Amino acid sequence: MSESIKSTEPYSGVEVWSGEPGDATAEVAAARAAFPGWADHSVAYRTEALRRFANVVRKKEKEFATLISRETGKPFWETLTEVAAVINKVEISINAHAERTPKRTIEAAMGSKVSVRHKPHGVLAVLGPYNFPAHLPNGHIVPALIAGNAVVFKPSEKTPATGEFLVKCYHEAGIPEGVVRLLIGGPDEGKELASQPGIDGLLFTGSARAGSALHRQFAETPQKILALELGGNNPLVIWHPKDIEAAAAIAVQSAYLSAGQRCTAARRLIVENGNEGLLIDAMAMMIDRIIVDEPFADPQPFMGPVIDNGAADHLQEQWVELMMKGGKPLRRLDRPFEDRPYLTPALIDVTDATERPDEEIFGPVLQLIRVEDFDAAIAEANNTRFGLAASLVGGTPEEFEVFWSNVRAGVINWNRPTNGAPSTAPFGGVGMSGNHRPSAFYAADYCAYPVTSAQADRVRGGITQGLRDPNMVEG
Ligand code: NAD
Repeated sequence: MSESIKSTEPYSGVEVWSGEPGDATAEVAAARAAFPGWADHSVAYRTEALRRFANVVRKKEKEFATLISRETGKPFWETLTEVAAVINKVEISINAHAERTPKRTIEAAMGSKVSVRHKPHGVLAVLGPYNFPAHLPNGHIVPALIAGNAVVFKPSEKTPATGEFLVKCYHEAGIPEGVVRLLIGGPDEGKELASQPGIDGLLFTGSARAGSALHRQFAETPQKILALELGGNNPLVIWHPKDIEAAAAIAVQSAYLSAGQRCTAARRLIVENGNEGLLIDAMAMMIDRIIVDEPFADPQPFMGPVIDNGAADHLQEQWVELMMKGGKPLRRLDRPFEDRPYLTPALIDVTDATERPDEEIFGPVLQLIRVEDFDAAIAEANNTRFGLAASLVGGTPEEFEVFWSNVRAGVINWNRPTNGAPSTAPFGGVGMSGNHRPSAFYAADYCAYPVTSAQADRVRGGITQGLRDPNMVEG
């Protein structure tokens, strides 16, 4: 079991929340007991409950965004957009449920018909990350509830207050307390929850390391649904852009929004060797103007600190490793205050580095790689075990077609940043970025299972083949 859980403001060290880890067995038992009643309600009843939830969150928009900013250090303008995403998720999920899991009737021979309807799995565990501590778990919880499941949600140990606030909003909207349970805790409680016989599945957003561990843990329970949304080592190819300033802005936005703590953040910038000078100059000028500050500062910062000192220490180690392997810093990863996790946006040329690690560097570090031609750019884009997001900026429509066809990723953009995928579309990755259970609009798919029924309105039976003639049966 984890020690006491405590979250602090990353920018000040002031405590935000503290409490004891919960009991996975008790939370699953409570959800199990509540599941049949919730599943028995009509979809219309459940969607109305979730619309009330959206209204509750709308009324608390600023309070909620303030809490997320305090707990994560993300700028207030950004956490307001996170809360808006929490609200919008409800209507998007209602539409997705109707479109992805509709009731269908297929006419069959002799007046019979085949109907396809969906059933909820039962109790689903949801494990959330710290970087979007409300939006991402909510993206599993809302579709799971609409489909009729009960949920046990364990927020990240780094963002318990946000998790608790979110769960209270469901309850305040009239969703029964048994139907959404909060489990406070860290990885130990996550493992404990994942091993509960009483869960029917687990919906996870987090690191590839934890996702792989869960995949191994679920190897012997194929009857349980497991949806993994994991990290990336995302390539951004910038190729002969007409507007260098705009291309530089897309690169900066892709790499450094949320201090690089986005699964879709660009980690590798791939450019044509010898043709990169103006772009790098424009990026460097923009990087030097980026305001890194606390969430409520005036003027508002572009990015805040990373989540905690442990994460900042780890990022600094990864940075040193890149340099030891031959990376040449163009903008350094500095830590202006030793005791606080502020980091400056960094750019490093790793073209000549040896054994570049194919790791997700989950912070404001962008690696530059120079290549000789477009084929080499695509090969470099695919030079990763991950496959979450990729962008081409510049290039011709024909080059984008080649890029789209040959790059392996679940999000492939053109002239747009790697990050900020719309919730109205499916979202997920290939390779080590997931297990082919895309989320966002397709979350409805993993929250329910289809049941096919062949139906006739009266009993009609007869065997026409393979029976002996009754007159020939020996007595
Ligand atoms: P994490 O994997 O450390 O933790 C995620 C959750 O899993 C937490 O609740 C944690 O307590 C729990 N956990 C950790 N190890 C576990 C284990 N072995 N068994 C059970 N539970 C365990 O991730 P994080 O650091 O909170 O979040 C950042 C990561 O999430 C990055 O890798 C990022 O790319 C990824 N992410 C992916 C997406 C996506 O949609 N693909 C979105 C956001 C973040």
